[in-house]
Formats: sequence, structure tokens, C-alpha cells
Amino acid sequence: MGLLDGKIALIFGVANKNSIGWGIARALYREGAIIALSYAMDRLEKRVRPLGESIGCELMLQADVGNAAELDAVFAAVEETYGRLDVLVHSVAFAERDALAGRFVDLRREALLSAIDISAASLIEMARRAEPLMTNGGSIMSLTYNAARTVVPNYNAMAIAKAALEAITMYLAADLGARKVRVNAISAGAIKTLSAGGIAGFRDLLRYAEVTAPMKELVSQDDVGDLALFLASDLSRRITGEVIYVDAGHSIMGYTDVEALIGGDGDG
Ligand code: NAD
Repeated sequence: MGLLDGKIALIFGVANKNSIGWGIARALYREGAIIALSYAMDRLEKRVRPLGESIGCELMLQADVGNAAELDAVFAAVEETYGRLDVLVHSVAFAERDALAGRFVDLRREALLSAIDISAASLIEMARRAEPLMTNGGSIMSLTYNAARTVVPNYNAMAIAKAALEAITMYLAADLGARKVRVNAISAGAIKTLSAGGIAGFRDLLRYAEVTAPMKELVSQDDVGDLALFLASDLSRRITGEVIYVDAGHSIMGYTDVEALIGGDGDG
């Protein structure tokens, strides 16, 4: 018996085998979920299709989450194929490269708005389409990062998009709770992925996260997948509107021994 036997899960944001969405897909599949995948554009299909086939996906659908008609088509296909939806995973983020580097005060307004649109507002678009399909309750989750709550240089547009995403999580949870549809966000520690590579100085950020986290290690796609599994399952049945961290403790630290950071012996 798996924790998700027979549950239908729709996951947006698998681009390749390093995607956090793929770590989540594997974890949900392992516990019995039927997985449907959606990817951003046609040229990703050659990477996504073999992944989906390896976990028996019937539905692998292209959709730009900024395009209402393409989103409609994905949810229509889920309804036609399965008649319902139990789990929705939003693992999507986009910002133009210049909006992920440099001084925050120089952030271009258009770049900020497009980051918010694709990375945050799209969750509302998905939730509205998922609601009528979640006839037996459901779990909706997205991926956030602590740059929403503390300053992380270069995150700029994405930090603001994540702050919006975390607020959207609460507001959706308030609306959908009566239907037993839960909405939560996973705040993951830094992981090397395609999107993360677009953030200026990301390599240093990874190193910093590893040195300063209480557990002195980075998190993996599988660590996030297991938290997603908990949120998708009945084990989290009364948890909604929350941001839950999987970051080896990184976000709790207000100060770190400077010697440890610069490679000293820590005695000073
Ligand atoms: P990723 O590049 O593998 O995934 C991001 C996905 O967003 C890709 O599949 C991409 O195709 C998709 N996407 C971008 N624009 C889109 C659009 N218009 N329509 C549809 N899809 C679109 O990188 P990832 O790190 O796995 O990112 C997944 C989520 O995790 C993102 O929300 C990201 O911000 C979040 N996150 C990542 C980290 C990290 O360090 N990697 C940490 C915390 C949170």
C-alpha cells in the first residue's frame, strides 16, 4: 500500500532530470500516484518524455503558464482522462537574466512584472482550474525560496515573485479550505538546477548555504520530493496556508562563525 495509491497528481515545471519537479514526481510515483506532467515548451519534450515514460505517465502536455488557453487545455486533458485531480504541483519560475543580477534598485519594472506573472500569479490560474476537479479535496503546493523573507543579493525579481507566491498561498488556502483543498509552499534550500543557474553568483550561494546550514549540507531534489509527498498525502491533512522549509536549517541562522566562512579553524 502506498501513501498516494490511486491519487492523480499534475506537476508543472519539469524541464530535465535535475528539476525539483522531477524529484517530486518520483517521490509521488513511488507511493502510488498517477502522474501527469506539463512542460513549458515543445523543445523540452525530448527530455521530458523519457522521464515521464519511466514513471508510466499517460499525459505529458506542453503549456506556457502565462497562456490561458494552454492552461485550459492541460486541465481539460486531466478531466477527460481521469475525471478528477488530487494533487497539483507548481514548480515553475521565470525571470529575465538581468532581473537576477545587480542592484535591486535598478530592477526593470517590466522584468519584475513578468517574473511575478509567470512565477506567482500562475499559481492562482492553476488553482482556479484545479478547484472543480478536486472533488474529493486536494493538495496544491508550490516551490518558494527564503529570498522572499530575507535579502539574498541578486535574487531581485525572483525574491519579490516568491514573496507574492507565499502571500498567494495563504489567500488560496483561505478560499479553498472549505472544499478540503489545502495549499502550501515548500521553501527549498539552494539546489543546482537549470533556473538556479540563471542567478548571478549562484555557485557561491550554494557554498555559503552548505557552510552556514546547521546540518552542513545541501538539500537534494529527493529531500524536496519527500516533503512534497508528505504535503500530497493525508499525513498533512490539517496543514494549509503554510510555508514549510527543507533547507538543512539554513534559514534559522542569524549569524555564522566568520572563520568557518573564510576557511579558518574557527578558534578566533
Ligand atoms: P527548473 O529550471 O528545473 O524548473 C523551473 C521550471 O519552470 C522549468 O521546467 C521551466 O521550463 C518552467 N517554466 C519557466 N517559465 C515557464 C512558463 N512560462 N510556462 C511553463 N513553465 C515555465 O529549476 P528548479 O530549480 O527545479 O525550479 C523549480 C521551482 O523551485 C521554481 O519555482 C524555483 O524558483 C523553485 N526553487 C528552486 C530552488 C533552487 O535552488 N533550485 C530553491 C528554492 C525554490
